[in-house]
Amino acid sequence: MSQIPEASAEIREQIDPDAVRERVATVRRRIEEACRTAGRDPAEITIVAVSKTFPMQSIAAGVASGLLHFGENRARELRDKEKARPGKLHDGDVIWRFIGHLQTNKAKYIARHADWFDALDSPRIAEALDERAAKNDRILPCLVQVNISGADQKYGLEPEDVYDFLDVCADYDHLHVKGLMAMASYTENPEEVRPQFRRMKELFDGYEAANNPRVDMDELSLGMSTDFEVAIEEGSTMIRLGSSIFGPRHYD
Ligand SMILES: *Cc1c(COP(=O)(O)O)cnc(C)c1O
Repeated sequence: MSQIPEASAEIREQIDPDAVRERVATVRRRIEEACRTAGRDPAEITIVAVSKTFPMQSIAAGVASGLLHFGENRARELRDKEKARPGKLHDGDVIWRFIGHLQTNKAKYIARHADWFDALDSPRIAEALDERAAKNDRILPCLVQVNISGADQKYGLEPEDVYDFLDVCADYDHLHVKGLMAMASYTENPEEVRPQFRRMKELFDGYEAANNPRVDMDELSLGMSTDFEVAIEEGSTMIRLGSSIFGPRHYD
């Protein structure tokens, strides 16, 4: 059975292309404002539209608004959406990114359908993805996920373990690490998570990627709908936005 959510009556209004276009315009204004505050160029910031739980119409509306990157957190939902709207891997017009926790038995879906894997957080997953990417004769770009919020989260490497893990990644011929990703603690007040973003930027800047042929520190994926301005001020290059682009999710 297809894992693509249907356009339920509840979200009809949200998937309206004009509504999506307005939300994207608002987000772009907020990005520009945060960049002005931080003395950065808005061109340095990539938006990942988190389309999990949303139907294909939402993705079409996102593309029509100029978005390129789409994020999913369930492997079979990504597979089915990629079949419906091919990613760059299959010469399509979008970039599909997997941003959630992955079980090793689903690595095959990622190797076949995801353009990027943004949640690499264990040697076990690295090994499974490397093997599957080899079978598909490709190199999978990845971000390493860091647990920056401590007890609040189950997933991601501890910050003190990140550099050792990056060194180990040199052994995986079919993975190419391109940066780091983290989720800050959930909070109503984004100022509270500024120190977490700052810590991530230090980790990102401190690794000697020049010594590792399979690691580049190009992307720092930090910030979601509630905290992306603070993330941009602290050096994020990639923000992951769901509800601020597609409207509220009615299930997870
Ligand atoms: C769902 C999700 C997001 C987007 O969340 P919003 O609050 O809707 O912006 C970002 N990153 C990850 C890893 C997610 O799972």
